[in-house]
Amino acid sequence: MTLPAHPAVTSPLLDDMSGALTFGRLAVQPGMVLHEGGARLLVLNSRNAAGEYGQRQELLVAAVTEGDARATWFHAWSMGLSVDFARSKTATAQAPQPSNRRWWLAVSLDGRGRYTGANGYRDGSPCTICAPRPLDPSRPNYEPCRNAHAHAWNVVGNWDRVAPGTSHYVLGPTAETLDRAREIAADTCERIRTLGHL
Ligand SMILES: [Zn+2]
Repeated sequence: MTLPAHPAVTSPLLDDMSGALTFGRLAVQPGMVLHEGGARLLVLNSRNAAGEYGQRQELLVAAVTEGDARATWFHAWSMGLSVDFARSKTATAQAPQPSNRRWWLAVSLDGRGRYTGANGYRDGSPCTICAPRPLDPSRPNYEPCRNAHAHAWNVVGNWDRVAPGTSHYVLGPTAETLDRAREIAADTCERIRTLGHL
């Protein structure tokens, strides 16, 4: 399959990405750019959910460019696949490279797809989750974070369970500060909501 020619994409979500690699379909995670159906799709969230016919892998995705949106949809949308079927499938995707410049954000949106806030984590930044639990909860321990992507994805997974049907994204912009990463996330949510792509 030949992908259409795309103009350069400058989103900080797409910094430090690998080239197109082959993964097991079930290994596709938020932050990857999936190449499928002639389009490039940023994976915003991924979860396994019980469906009418068994476990399904649900990937929430959004088109990278207007051309990718034209080949798919001009809004965030969910790709569902039976886990039994997906187990034997491969996927072509670009993966974010490990980077201390990348913030992994658990992003919450309102019912209309507007950004409402984000928790942020970055590998190497002081982290309470990666540190031993303190004896005194009012005096937390900190250690350099080792698993920022997993923290953000876990938070989104918890939100999905508490508030099913609402939208939550895992976004991984590169940025100097958490505030700047949140600005990029807010801008990205607004672009997806209004333009239908990054
Ligand atoms: Zn951590």
